[in-house]
Formats: sequence, structure tokens, C-alpha cells
Amino acid sequence: MIGRDMKNMFEYNALPARVIFGYDTLKFVTEEAQKLGMKRVIVLTTKGSERKGLDLADRLGSLCAGTFSDAAMHTPVDVTNAAMAKYVALGADGTVAIGGGSTVGLGKAIALRTDCPQIAIPTTYAGSEMTPYLGQTENGVKKTLSSAKVLPETVIYDVGLTHSLPTRLAAASGVNAIAHSAEALYARTTNPVVKLMAAEGISSLRDALPRIVADGDDRKGRYGALYGAWLCSLVSSQVPMALHHKLCHAIGGSFSLPHSDIHANVLPHVISYNSRAAEEAVGILAEAIRCDDAAEGLYEFNQMLGIHASLRDLGMPEDGIDVIVKQTMTAPYWNPRSMDRLALRNLLTRAWAGDPPRFEHDL
Ligand code: NAD
Repeated sequence: MIGRDMKNMFEYNALPARVIFGYDTLKFVTEEAQKLGMKRVIVLTTKGSERKGLDLADRLGSLCAGTFSDAAMHTPVDVTNAAMAKYVALGADGTVAIGGGSTVGLGKAIALRTDCPQIAIPTTYAGSEMTPYLGQTENGVKKTLSSAKVLPETVIYDVGLTHSLPTRLAAASGVNAIAHSAEALYARTTNPVVKLMAAEGISSLRDALPRIVADGDDRKGRYGALYGAWLCSLVSSQVPMALHHKLCHAIGGSFSLPHSDIHANVLPHVISYNSRAAEEAVGILAEAIRCDDAAEGLYEFNQMLGIHASLRDLGMPEDGIDVIVKQTMTAPYWNPRSMDRLALRNLLTRAWAGDPPRFEHDL
């Protein structure tokens, strides 16, 4: 039983955030903005989701001061500067971000600078909405910070908004969510509550993602995936992430590749790397994805979902492997297994080539 090992003491830190979850929950947005005392909201989206932002602005009526539709992946500081200029020009007093992690990230970046209240309406499974973390990119380097200011006050999960997420993107985004829970299971400060939520989140995504790939309008699949993503986001906010997130942040910041696909490609290899140092956690992970070997199971799950097969496919140059190894060794995150330069290089070479995971010995 996950929560009944009396040998260990633990701490549990919940973070404040109000969550509304279900189908057709967007209708509560005006009421929620008013509860936060917002009077002049700026609605944030990416270019591709501009229409959703304009519809939301209509729904907010006189509460909406304007929109900004240039949110971009990895929160580039120049985009934040442009959004800040608009925020100030509009005399805005709060943000409503509707979109994936890029849009939620822009809302956080504005809140960091203004301490304004935020509503996040996530439409992917990336899971930024429940965390106090913000990764910002400047001059090709992504730096992550943690601050209570960036945690959205209210999160509205409306499952209906995720039906338009293309199934291939939904699959990769769902595995990105699984990665949060996988690392939460072996985090240095993990605890029984986190483990329960992590296992439930992974299991829900394991069931939901194949349903979505088979039929993008499968309501049970879309509901289960967003529910699982919420739990995975929650646990990633409560315990520190490890090697997997370090590698993915370095790759994302250095080569500007699609965030969720990077996570999906790297995860099986990191789980293999950590498998002997975190046996209990990797066992829970295997059970949640219903396989004997978690690393192999995740690799096969990616194939079943039709996710890009390698970092090479995604556009990472081969000489980027050494760039990432260097960044990882220079500023490592805590990880259940220590960093071994050559083993890490082999791990990344396999992920780059799309080879199956293999336990990398210290070399
Ligand atoms: P994204 O937000 O860039 O979205 C990917 C694309 O999908 C965009 O073009 C977007 O317009 C489109 N899209 C989003 N929802 C859609 C929908 N329902 N229907 C149709 N199209 C839709 O990508 P992402 O993977 O969600 O987020 C990645 C970003 O989030 C990265 O910058 C990453 O660093 C950040 N992130 C941060 C945290 C954190 O805790 N700080 C956690 C996870 C991710």
C-alpha cells in the first residue's frame, strides 16, 4: 500500500489554487474573474488559438480590456516584454490565459512582474497551470524559477476545449504529463499523497490516450486525459523534478523543439537510467502503465500512440548531444542516480536515434 510504510517520515505541502473541472465549465469564467476582483482583464492566447481568445473576450464582455495573441513556446522574454507593454497600455489588472503551457507561461511571466491575479484555462496536458514554476528563455538559454507570484489563483479545466487538440499533439502532451508523475514518484521529498495522485494520474492517462488516438471525440478519453493531466501537474508542483526535466529543459531551451515531443522521447530512456536506483517508484510506474518493465512499456506506448520516434526526427542536431550533456553536468538537478557523463551521453544518443531504452551502466 502506497501510504502505509511506517518507516519513513514525510512532509506534505499543498499549494493554493481553486480548480473547477468538467465539461462546459468555461461559463464560470466571468464569475471567477469577479471573485478575484478583476475589472480589466487581458486575455492571452497563441496565434493559432486567437479565435478562442476573441470568443472568450466576448464572453467576458466589459470585464475584458483587450487580448494578446502572441504567446510562444518556452516563454521568450521579448514576447513577455511586448505583452507587458500591452498590459500596461490597457490598464489591465489581471490575466486570463486560454491555451497550452506556452500561454499559461505568459500569464505567469506577467504575474511575476505585476503580482496580478491569474485565471488559467489549460487546453493541453502540459500541466503548467498548477505549478509555481516559470521557465523563461533569453539568448537561447531557458532558466526556471519558482515563485508564489506565478501560481495561478484559479484554474478552469473545460474538457470540451481539449477536443480540438489534434490527436498526435494530445498523445505527446499526455506523455509529457506522465513524465511529471514518473519523476514525482522518485522525487527526493516524495510522500504517500503525491504517490497516490501520481499513480492515479498515470493510470488515467494510460487508459485515456489510446482512446483519443482512436477517436479524437471520445468523451471518456478526453475527460480521463485532462483529469490525469491535472493530477500530474499537481504532483509536479509539490515535489522537485529530476534528471528527465533537466534534460528536457536543456533540449527545449537550446534547440527550440516542441516541448511535449521532447518529453515523450526522453522519458523511457531516463526511466531506464534510474530503474535500479528507484526500484519502488519504477515498479509503481510499471503497474500504472500496465507492463512489466516501465522503460520498455513507455517506449512501446509512444509507438502505439504514433508519437515522433526520435529527437533526430524532431530536428535536434547530433552535435547537440554534447551540448546537453555539458549543460546537465554543469548544473545538475538532484536525481536518484548520480550523473555519469558517458552513461548520459549514451542515454541521449539512444533518444536521438530513436533506439529502445537500455540500462546504461556507469562508465
Ligand atoms: P503549447 O502551449 O505551445 O501548445 C502547442 C500548440 O497547440 C500551440 O500552437 C497551441 O496554440 C495549440 N493548442 C493548444 N491547445 C489547443 C487545443 N485545445 N486545440 C487546438 N490547438 C491547441 O504547448 P504545451 O506543450 O502545452 O506547453 C509547452 C510550454 O509549457 C513550454 O514552454 C513549457 O516550458 C511550458 N511548461 C511549463 C510548465 C511549468 O510548470 N512552468 C509545465 C509544463 C510546461
